[in-house]
Amino acid sequence: MKSFLFELPELGYQLNALAPMMSQETLSCHYGKHFQTYVNNLNQLVPGSRFEGLPLEDVIRKAPNGAILNNAGQVFNHLMFFEQFRPTKEGKQPTGELLFLIEQSFDNVEAMREQFDKAASSLFGSGWVWLAMDKDGKMEIMPLANADTPLRYQMKPLLTIDMWEHAYYLDYQNRKADYIKNFWMLINWHVISSRING
Ligand code: MN
Repeated sequence: MKSFLFELPELGYQLNALAPMMSQETLSCHYGKHFQTYVNNLNQLVPGSRFEGLPLEDVIRKAPNGAILNNAGQVFNHLMFFEQFRPTKEGKQPTGELLFLIEQSFDNVEAMREQFDKAASSLFGSGWVWLAMDKDGKMEIMPLANADTPLRYQMKPLLTIDMWEHAYYLDYQNRKADYIKNFWMLINWHVISSRING
């Protein structure tokens, strides 16, 4: 029987589509090498384990701390990260239900961004900062270490920034604030909206 394997998802845009905010060199390395390595690692670890055949989200919810959880988390986090940048003409600003829920939780978009940016710039070591939502639609900013994800806290992940150095070092070196500032120019808010009810 052929075992179930995880796959690197399609990027959905060209490697140079996010330049200059995120260069082709960064995408080749980050998507093509780092992300691929997490997928490969997971495919080494999962077959033959009790997680074989489970959807990625269930692996993350059920796995104990260790290599399977770390690699499953990184696959999921990178999937969310690269998907949210799909370039389109629309989707430059949050609208509709998404905007309403942001305003309910933070007063306004600027206040949400301010809190998110502060969490991203002050995150110590490697990790991810998330905009996430509970089952009642209450949003919060979640700074999480290493490969951790809001799924582990019964929160719905909506938007995320990768604060591992490999995400920005080629383009920004130590200028973390510039990476965070330019990150917002790449977000396709249609994708974030689709995650609310997804
Ligand atoms: Mn990364």
